[in-house]
Amino acid sequence: MRLILLFTILFSANLQARINHAPSNFQTSDGNVIFVDFKTGEYDITFDSKNKTVNVVSKITFLSDETGVPAFDLKENPTQMILDNEVITSKVISSPDKDTWFRIALKTIQPGIHTLIITAPIKEEVLFTSDGVSSAFWFSDLGDRGLLETYLPANFEYDQYKITLNLDFKNMSKQKIYTNGKISKFDNNKFKVEFPETYTSSSLYFHTAPIDRYPEILFKFRSIDGRDIPVTIYSGVKGTSLETAKTKTLSSLEGLESKYGPFLHSSVTIFIAGNGGMEYCGATMTDTWSLNHELTHSYFARGGFMPANGNAGWIDEAITTWSDEGSGMRPDMNAHSNMAGNTEYRRYTHSDAYSAGKVFMYYLNFKFQSSGGLTSFLNHLIQTSAFQPMTTEEFVQKMSAFYSEDMMPFFKSHVYTDKGIVYVNRTKPVHMKMTQQEMRQYL
Ligand SMILES: [Zn+2]
Repeated sequence: MRLILLFTILFSANLQARINHAPSNFQTSDGNVIFVDFKTGEYDITFDSKNKTVNVVSKITFLSDETGVPAFDLKENPTQMILDNEVITSKVISSPDKDTWFRIALKTIQPGIHTLIITAPIKEEVLFTSDGVSSAFWFSDLGDRGLLETYLPANFEYDQYKITLNLDFKNMSKQKIYTNGKISKFDNNKFKVEFPETYTSSSLYFHTAPIDRYPEILFKFRSIDGRDIPVTIYSGVKGTSLETAKTKTLSSLEGLESKYGPFLHSSVTIFIAGNGGMEYCGATMTDTWSLNHELTHSYFARGGFMPANGNAGWIDEAITTWSDEGSGMRPDMNAHSNMAGNTEYRRYTHSDAYSAGKVFMYYLNFKFQSSGGLTSFLNHLIQTSAFQPMTTEEFVQKMSAFYSEDMMPFFKSHVYTDKGIVYVNRTKPVHMKMTQQEMRQYL
């Protein structure tokens, strides 16, 4: 019975899709490094105001489909690791081409379900004050190892799994939580935050701070599907007009819904801070100028389209930049940049997406104008493939089927090839993301 069950799980279409998005397993002196499928991640996080430390006990269940040493990532060094009831150690290694670094658990496991328990501190983006603690998971996808692994043990971006945070604020009873997850409060200093199973290591937004640390405005947005979606805007910049931010948000959401259909998330969380921004599912940390760009990412990057790896990240950045500029057309196409064909281990987005990638989308919109332009395909994508992490190759396949034309040769010559041609005709500054260092000052 157990065997039959295991085979049913192993060969289900969903799992195959997820494992297919993982880069290739490879041999090292420590064994066969295998990429795995996380099922659940339960993170018990204790904020200790006396010692000014944050400690996490993470319990991860995962499925392996091969024999080997499992790969995952966590930037901090664990203080303890237990894999299937055995105390083990871990090690940070690089991919064979040295494109990325990550952690492996030093124990050879067999195919099947496993449990990994990791104890480790959170040291990044933590600030204890006399009122409590400000602590956030703020990501950057323009560099290696900048997603959830900065703070918690996580899988690579190809994987979707159920994430739960159990938060214990020792001796701190006035904490506020800003998140795109579902919050349950147990008493003044204990909370549970649950995220949808569709989330990946780039999806979740979490920021806790003492109550009243930031001014905020709460309101509802009436979606075209009839939902009243709760919106929270809070600001880390003195002098921000929350009323202006509210007006901009409503107009942005209305514009996006009219182009791309009902908002794909159950809430909107906006932190006004810094220059540029970073996107999450139904959430963003952004300046007011980039607000529409970042909310567009709730459809492309964190919703309707989700990148399965760093070679697909250019797609959402290119679409978003093109859409934010008004979804225009251009008949010329002289952009060439290898944004999609880097090593299979690539985990971050090529910054040419904002320029070469954007121009590529202008051209596609021109080329397919008689078929409703690029927007008609993007709507089809949202309706058929929302919340399914995707590679560039799968995106091209879907586009080819939609327009009845094999698009791969065209993609190959423009987004898989560096020809060193200067392509950009900038009319305004290209939106860029903040680095983790830039974000840190807004805790
Ligand atoms: Zn962007």
